[in-house]
Amino acid sequence: MQLSTNTRRKRSFRIIVTLLSALLPILLGVVILYLQAQRALEQSSRLTAEEAILQFDLMLDNTAQAAEELLPLAGQPCVDVKLALREQVTRRPFVRSTSLLWDDTLYCSSLFGEAHEKIMPGDYNQGQLLLMKGNPVTPDTALLVYRLRKGEQGALSTLDGYHLSNILRLIGRKSILLLQVGPNWLDANGQFHEGPLPVLPVAQTALDSQHYAFNVTAGFPEGETWRYISTEYPPLFSLLIFFGVISGLIGHILQKRSTSPSVEMQRALEAREFVPYFQPVVSGDSKQWSGAEVLMRWNHPKEGLVRPDLFIPFAEHSGLIVPMTRSLMQQTAELLAPIASSFDQPLRIGINITASHCKDLQLINDCREFLSHFTPGSVCLVLELTERELIVPTDITHQLFEQLHDLGVNIAIDDFGTGHSSLGYLRQFNVDFLKIDQSFVAMIGADALSGHILDSIIELSVKLNLGIVAEGVETEEQSDYLTARGVGFLQGYLFARPMPGAQFIKALTKR
Ligand code: C2E
Ligand code: CA
Ligand code: CA
Repeated sequence: MQLSTNTRRKRSFRIIVTLLSALLPILLGVVILYLQAQRALEQSSRLTAEEAILQFDLMLDNTAQAAEELLPLAGQPCVDVKLALREQVTRRPFVRSTSLLWDDTLYCSSLFGEAHEKIMPGDYNQGQLLLMKGNPVTPDTALLVYRLRKGEQGALSTLDGYHLSNILRLIGRKSILLLQVGPNWLDANGQFHEGPLPVLPVAQTALDSQHYAFNVTAGFPEGETWRYISTEYPPLFSLLIFFGVISGLIGHILQKRSTSPSVEMQRALEAREFVPYFQPVVSGDSKQWSGAEVLMRWNHPKEGLVRPDLFIPFAEHSGLIVPMTRSLMQQTAELLAPIASSFDQPLRIGINITASHCKDLQLINDCREFLSHFTPGSVCLVLELTERELIVPTDITHQLFEQLHDLGVNIAIDDFGTGHSSLGYLRQFNVDFLKIDQSFVAMIGADALSGHILDSIIELSVKLNLGIVAEGVETEEQSDYLTARGVGFLQGYLFARPMPGAQFIKALTKR
């Protein structure tokens, strides 16, 4: 139960990591595109403002020229200069009206002729420009008044707001563009406003004219950055999605790879995927089943049945082999215990043990636990220790083997003939059986020398009073040869292949 939540948690963790590795480049890319779009918009609004300043400067140049030409006439009677004032209005494309002043009093205008009106120089930004909502003739059309003064003389020329708003609309087609003169400002619809400028949400840029007392502010409405991205960057966006998918895939593959064998085996151990297979061992003379060797198989959910030589080395390296063997012994005991009372002779159960399992006395408890499932005398537990990996004799190991023997556990040296165990070694650990490696059995009948080596091993074990098991018996010839030389136990495909627990129990009960 706990395992399934564990596995589910790991799976959701993997999914999260995969999603993150897909989303991360996309998010990063979106941030970069966003910054890029902002920069592009800022540049665009600066260019717009510069262009607007240029146009307004040109218009004001034209308007200022009218005032400059009229200024020397200031002071002369209105009747004498009226025509000159009107001529400027007619000649100049942007000038709507002109006036002359004496000591800041307007006394003559192109529109009304003779007049008497005091003007307030303070209304004019830097004494030069005034943006007005309208005048008595056109109260709803804004106008920009240019003022020139020299001593008592003064001249005014006004620029029609219609031209100003045209410029704002044409230049700032995609943006918001505003013209500000002192406290007043004008928008692209020609609307006159008083007071502070509104804050433009995106890429606001303000530029002052170098020649006249006005400034221009350009910017974009809310959400313009995303609109810009969606219209200007669709190919880049598709590329980002593509990279996200690739990165997600790489993340997924790397995670699968990084699931190290030991993590995967720990999971399998908890899921009880390591199961015992049983290969019967027959007695040399009667060929009756006298026991079985327990061989580990990995019942992998995806890979199917995995051979032990593919995973045992990893299990040994990670130290998982000890709990794996423990689980195998437990499963074996659970399988065999229900039928053990019917055995007329003790069934020999061979379990493969690695040297690392002999480092401490824990193995004794494992064997005691195993035997506790059976009535005494119904099974004989044989621990198979491979000769390729010899156990270093220490106080602990001596104690271990002594106590194992006291429990009635037998020791067999597996793959005998492939390693370097000495006579002293066999005595020291009180070995009970030698398992002749299958390579020697395979040589039977091949040549005289191999036969001689095999004969020597058999002779040695007879002299040492050790039982012999011959492994890998595949032919009648091998079986006959070994039986003729008094080999007590035979194991191999000739008699039976390793089989699953249920099948072994079924065959065993039949016998
Ligand atoms: P092993 O202990 O020498 O086991 C005998 C191997 O020979 C088994 O291979 C068995 O299937 C195979 N075999 C038996 N009869 C014949 C035959 O007639 N012809 C041929 N060609 N092969 C035969 P398996 O089951 O693949 O096991 C391979 C090795 O993996 C075992 O060699 C053992 O060293 C290791 N192993 C298996 N189970 C365990 C285990 O529970 N713990 C440990 N530590 N090692 C294990
Ligand atoms: Ca073995
Ligand atoms: Ca062997």
